[in-house]
Amino acid sequence: MVKWATVKAFLDIPVTDPDDARRRRLLNILLLYTVILTALTTLASFGLAHIGLGNPPQNPYLALLSTPIVLVGAALLYLLNRYVSGYLASILFLVLVLVSAFTDPESATSGKLLLVFPIPIVMASFLIRPAASFAMAALVSLAVSWVKVNIVDTGIDVSLIPTFFVIALVTWIAARTLESALRDLRTLNRELDQRVIERTRELARALAREQAEASKNQAILASIADGVIVFDNAGVAIAVNPAMRRLLGKSHDQIIGSSIGELMGADVSQEDQEIIHHLLNESALKHPASLKLVWGDKTLLASFASLLDAYGRRTGTVSVFHDFTREAELERLKRSFVSRVSHELRTPLNAIIGYADMLKEAVYGPLSEAQAKAVDRIGVNGRQLLNLVNDLLDQAQIEAGTLRLKIELFSPAELVRHVLEVMEVLATTKGLSISASIADDVPSRMLGDPQRLQQILINLVGNAIKFTDQGSVGIRVYLPGPGQWALEVSDTGCGIPREAQSYIFEPFRQVDGSPTRKYSGSGLGLSIVKQLTTMMGGEVLVESEVGRGSTFTVVLPILPAGLYAQEKADE
Ligand code: ADP
Repeated sequence: MVKWATVKAFLDIPVTDPDDARRRRLLNILLLYTVILTALTTLASFGLAHIGLGNPPQNPYLALLSTPIVLVGAALLYLLNRYVSGYLASILFLVLVLVSAFTDPESATSGKLLLVFPIPIVMASFLIRPAASFAMAALVSLAVSWVKVNIVDTGIDVSLIPTFFVIALVTWIAARTLESALRDLRTLNRELDQRVIERTRELARALAREQAEASKNQAILASIADGVIVFDNAGVAIAVNPAMRRLLGKSHDQIIGSSIGELMGADVSQEDQEIIHHLLNESALKHPASLKLVWGDKTLLASFASLLDAYGRRTGTVSVFHDFTREAELERLKRSFVSRVSHELRTPLNAIIGYADMLKEAVYGPLSEAQAKAVDRIGVNGRQLLNLVNDLLDQAQIEAGTLRLKIELFSPAELVRHVLEVMEVLATTKGLSISASIADDVPSRMLGDPQRLQQILINLVGNAIKFTDQGSVGIRVYLPGPGQWALEVSDTGCGIPREAQSYIFEPFRQVDGSPTRKYSGSGLGLSIVKQLTTMMGGEVLVESEVGRGSTFTVVLPILPAGLYAQEKADE
């Protein structure tokens, strides 16, 4: 079988001008067609004569030779068309077609066969160029007229010439239209090709950008020391970094495709699992959320943030797990050490203070003046030490979150009176006056933790006395606004510089932190005041001017009576 590709390669002429290529291909097709037609005609005339349906050809040898002659002529024209010039081959072909029409001049010019002449006219416009049809019409007119005049002697038929030219005109229009349509098509194809090339180039660039972005993200993920897992909207892990794989002791393939529930298994408490599920299912985490959790033998801080696409839609969640197992253990050890040591210190300290008091009260006999002084110092320093230990214990408990408030009904007047009783001696020893006032609208009974409120007041008044060398210390209880009450402690002491006012509430921070400082103290008092106040839902404010004094105000919410009933019921 002859393959179509072979036929196509045979017919196509490899030239760059598409019009030229089309015309030369058309000539090849016509040549092929002519050869086949000649062979079929010869065969048919012999065949029909053989079965008695027609006369055998007049000259059988010539009839038999016609096919090879046409074949050789077609081959020569083909070679001329392929290797030399399409125009030349086409002109020759058309001339041969014209000449072949006159093999029998009489019948050629006798009307019926005149129908043959439009063929070269039409062919000329498609094989050479559209306007060539006019040249061919002129040639045909000349040839037919010449034959009519000189050979068949019938005279010129004037009506034939316009007919040929009309045919030439129609053919010219048709060929031109076809050529311009083909040109448009080619332009369109070129544009389309250009567009495809540009699109492909853009796609390649976008792909390269995406790949660069992906490998950059991969590198960032790999370099993060914290564990990172990215979950899609269905809660399935789609990316994980090496730190997370190490943290969970699982391979990449074991993690990818698993849900957070499958990853946590029984290693995370039910309560924490519920919170994590909630965070992952939240339609859009407005702000990143974090959670401290125990995962197997590890203590982790898990943070969750939404992954948003360019339109702000949530496409998943990034979860970052910071392993602070070691820090948590150290923190726990520190807290248990501080509370144990504080507790262990309190027992002997209480004994020392107790014995000092008994010595002072002459339980073991009268003391000389020097002895009484020494015993006094033991008592004062012992109490100072006890205060420090108590502060440390409170701080440790607050940090551990184990300090609980005991809410009960108390009398603000009694609270203030008790603090005055305790602090009066200290103030008068320094020559300071101390006073207290309670506004009339302050309720006589309120809800709160009187023990811790007293601690707040004692710390503030203690500081006021400590940092005031002359003048006075005042306590005031009042209602600063609806639903609030306030404890205010003011003094006429040294004051606190503005820049220090922001940090004095941090543990162990003092305005003058040097070892040679004038005043004793641990730097824990205000930190405890602030933390207790925060636990009570309030805030501490400070106003101070260096050299003129300070005012500390603890503003607290007035607890509704219903809460007391609730607390009681809880107990
Ligand atoms: P300390 O044990 O040092 O008193 P605090 O936490 O109670 O620790 O106070 C922190 C620092 O704040 C003090 O060291 C002091 O510098 C400053 N300060 C606190 N209260 C007053 C006050 N009434 N007048 C001046 N300075 C104060």
